[in-house]
Amino acid sequence: MPETKETLKIGTRARIEMIDITADVQKAVDRWGIKEGLCVVYVPHTTAGVTINENADPHVQDDIVAHVSTLVPRRGAFRHGEGNSDAHIKVSLTGSSESIIVERGRLVLGTWQSIFFCEFDGPRKRKCHVKVVGG
Ligand code: ZN
Repeated sequence: MPETKETLKIGTRARIEMIDITADVQKAVDRWGIKEGLCVVYVPHTTAGVTINENADPHVQDDIVAHVSTLVPRRGAFRHGEGNSDAHIKVSLTGSSESIIVERGRLVLGTWQSIFFCEFDGPRKRKCHVKVVGG
């Protein structure tokens, strides 16, 4: 069964931001030449995650960032002493991985969908693993 993995390096620029990584994930799929299979995007961090959402109107990303921040304010009655409890909670809202079907060498995403790396405690240097399993 053909399979491979690579790690995207992502430099985030804000404490909270969403970065469209769809083209980078598709490039990885292209590089491996896998035509049919499953692509897993996995973020190995506890304060950054990944989600799939609308790419057409950037206001959608702005709204997500603003309202996630309202849902989980930076300051609160947290016990975790590192000062980033809100970021740990936010990443549990997005999750740490997405699985995308690959057909005819292309990620199967809806017309308006993109894959977004979600930073919740930046700016930092981050990693995002991409693995495609053919079959
Ligand atoms: Zn922490």
